[in-house]
Amino acid sequence: MKVLVVEDDPAVAEPLVEGLRRHGLDVDHVAYAAQAVTAAREADVVLLDLGLPDDDGLNVLRSVRATCEVPIIIVTARGDETDRVVGLELGADDYVVKPFSVRELSARIRAVSRRRRVEASLDAGRVHIDKSRRQADFDGVSLDLTAKEFDLLAVLAEEPGRVVPRQELLSRVWDPVWHGSGKTLDVHVSSLRRKLPDPAAIETVRGVGYRLADEVGSGR
Ligand code: CA
Repeated sequence: MKVLVVEDDPAVAEPLVEGLRRHGLDVDHVAYAAQAVTAAREADVVLLDLGLPDDDGLNVLRSVRATCEVPIIIVTARGDETDRVVGLELGADDYVVKPFSVRELSARIRAVSRRRRVEASLDAGRVHIDKSRRQADFDGVSLDLTAKEFDLLAVLAEEPGRVVPRQELLSRVWDPVWHGSGKTLDVHVSSLRRKLPDPAAIETVRGVGYRLADEVGSGR
């Protein structure tokens, strides 16, 4: 597992990097916000110091979150609770306050990474969704989906049998504030259906929304 340490203070970074390596982790280190976003794409977990010299760590968090799902643990010296709350709201998975023990940190790294792996995949009977690879399988056969088709199927597979209202699909797959006609939703559902070995897997509930058929979701 590769851990990215984003920390500008060598007095913190050096023992931290060394300590995590002793705990069997593969560690990369950057000291600037500017390097962090790119480096995060290669990492399995990011440890992010909030007080960086070139930018606020919270901005780094925002940028990383906008591009990938890597688990992020905020490392902060700030006693300010607001930072931690904002950090978690922006999508950080956990936080530690300096000073901390490497052993504790290493346990948390493994915990967030485990949690993410579970969340990143979803089994809904005949449908399997792997969010980290953005790959969907049906009866074990991988589907060649566009980004929107994948997102649609992933939302429907969360709870097979539940009718997902049109508005919820539009806001979760397209835009939180959707003002369009919603025709785009129907077009994408049709193209998604055409790619499924069993087009009846997605049921229309007229005027309400769509659902993944119960028989499909339960694997019967
Ligand atoms: Ca710092």
